[in-house]
Amino acid sequence: MARVSVESLRKEYDVGTVVAVDDLDLEIEDGEFVTVVGPSGCGKTTTLRMLAGLERPTSGRIRIGEEDVTDVHAKNRDVAMVFQNYALYPHKTVFENMAFGLRMSTGLSADERETRVVETAEMMDIEELLEDKPDELSGGQKQRVALGRAIVREPDLFLFDEPLSNLDAKLRTSMRAEIQRIQDELGITAVYVTHDQHEAMTMGDRIVILNDGTLQQQGKPTDVYENPVNEFVAGFVGSPSMNFLDVAVDATGGRLQLSDPAGGFQFELSAGYAERNDVSLEADRYTLGVRPENVSVTDAGAKNAITATVDVVEPVGSDSYLHLDVDDEFIARVDAGVDLSPGDRVSLTFDESDVHLFDHDTGRDIFGVENEAPTATP
Ligand code: ADP
Ligand code: MG
Repeated sequence: MARVSVESLRKEYDVGTVVAVDDLDLEIEDGEFVTVVGPSGCGKTTTLRMLAGLERPTSGRIRIGEEDVTDVHAKNRDVAMVFQNYALYPHKTVFENMAFGLRMSTGLSADERETRVVETAEMMDIEELLEDKPDELSGGQKQRVALGRAIVREPDLFLFDEPLSNLDAKLRTSMRAEIQRIQDELGITAVYVTHDQHEAMTMGDRIVILNDGTLQQQGKPTDVYENPVNEFVAGFVGSPSMNFLDVAVDATGGRLQLSDPAGGFQFELSAGYAERNDVSLEADRYTLGVRPENVSVTDAGAKNAITATVDVVEPVGSDSYLHLDVDDEFIARVDAGVDLSPGDRVSLTFDESDVHLFDHDTGRDIFGVENEAPTATP
């Protein structure tokens, strides 16, 4: 068990033309479960491979526990990694796959190794499979074996690189719960990489969001959801995504309106809004963000309403998503009982307390200045 500290970690490829990871700082507490999320190519795998010792940083330091492991070879780091493609030895049985790492990394006797493997196999519910070869197993079973092989070593640190991406949705849900249960039981620090924001939000004690090799934000999932530091994070976290509208602030201040007058949208902020929220609305243009669940249907002609046409009604159980013709796309999450069909005109509104405002040029959330948010990449 160990805390992990990453300092100004950088990885360049192709003589510096590709910056896969750009001066990343991270502190992970002992026993913490941290999810790292971001779009494809944002540097997740590269970060994990540097933690594992499979990739050498261009610069920066990595500490695991008390030890600076930056220059320590992978085999001498007490780290176990689980991959998307399982990476089992095809010619070894399940038992041998699990015992192999133990033989390489511990001084246990053969009997002790067998006891550990059998115990772990029971924990993972794969004791029936110990004599099978990987090609006799289903995808889900292979991933249980790969997890078992990581767990049996009782490492200081677990690294997971999209381990559930090859599994079907139902299996993924149950494996998520299982990985969390095991990590919690063993108390082993874990870094779990995924491109799936839902997975990251539901699994992590803390979520770390990367874009373009750069740390965007880290924090508790609910804090990141409620207070995204920039437009990138706001749009990435949550599904369906936050709605964004270009807005202009008129000269008298406090009154927001869509820059496209044809949109016919006027949203008047209450008196003292700027003072109460400690923001200054000095620029001409902002991006207004509001989440689908904060948008509601109101009466025609109501104050602060947007009038729109319903494009699609997407039922999702007790709620429906209304896809509306405001800007590119605008979604409202409404009660499934609301009787609307494509083509209907509808008035929508939201509360000013649910409004996020982003700097039009940098994407920064203007409420979150003290967070020192990095700018979103356009
Ligand atoms: P992710 O896992 O988030 O999808 P990666 O860490 O695999 O992203 O890649 C980050 C960036 O580094 C990408 O632009 C990718 O093309 C590049 N990259 C990764 N590995 C190499 C490599 N061995 N050589 C050159 N470029 C690489
Ligand atoms: Mg990857």
